[in-house]
Amino acid sequence: MATLQLNDIVKDFAGTQVIKGVDLEVKDREFVVFVGPSGCGKSTLLRMIAGLESVSSGDILIDGQRMNEVGPAERGLAMVFQSYALYPHMTVEDNMGFSLRLAGVDKEQRRQKVLEAARILQLENLLERKPKALSGGQRQRVAIGRAIVRNPSIFLFDEPLSNLDAALRVQMRIELARLHEELDATMIYVTHDQIEAMTMADKIVVLQGGIVEQVGSPMALYHHPRNRFVAGFIGSPK
Ligand code: ADP
Ligand code: MG
Repeated sequence: MATLQLNDIVKDFAGTQVIKGVDLEVKDREFVVFVGPSGCGKSTLLRMIAGLESVSSGDILIDGQRMNEVGPAERGLAMVFQSYALYPHMTVEDNMGFSLRLAGVDKEQRRQKVLEAARILQLENLLERKPKALSGGQRQRVAIGRAIVRNPSIFLFDEPLSNLDAALRVQMRIELARLHEELDATMIYVTHDQIEAMTMADKIVVLQGGIVEQVGSPMALYHHPRNRFVAGFIGSPK
């Protein structure tokens, strides 16, 4: 079980406020999408949830526990980035098991975890390959596999599909939806792509200039955009 709560989160970078008081509740097993134009603060917000960036003020709670001073490794979450940054000299298996190795998990257990993730991601036949012998979609699956092996209660995705071509993006969206079903995890997914948000989200959070413009289901935002910005970004043509 994993719920997330953000209470009045603010982020300053050298005196400039880029996140201006964000409140949000994410339910257990919800698929929440942060959407908004480039520079609106999506990655900053996600990195604060991950513990990769400190908050200037406000509280981050996971399952009711205050996480502000808790390090990224102790938050029970895993992040998948746009640039998948696999280790080029390691096989797929070693890439996927690397964080477990760092955590001191023994070889046999690592193999178990990696095989399970590889089954879910259909990577079983590629475990001995190096990243350069993989397609873009396969590399992105390995990056997701690195997150899965850690059994996180919350997955954080920062534009994970934006380096892929259009057809592959559609396929990966379907795979991520299946993954969400199979893993029963809470997922927070950042994108600037409205279609991705509309097709994947249980709940969409529309951001602009460090402020939450509206939170709601895809249908609620489509039919009842609160303002012109939301309407222009994902609302129905009026
Ligand atoms: P998004 O992911 O929505 O494109 P970001 O969260 O990356 O937006 O950035 C939000 C704003 O914060 C931008 O104006 C960006 O320039 C600024 N910003 C992000 N990271 C830093 C940083 N480390 N130092 C200073 N400004 C930053
Ligand atoms: Mg970003």
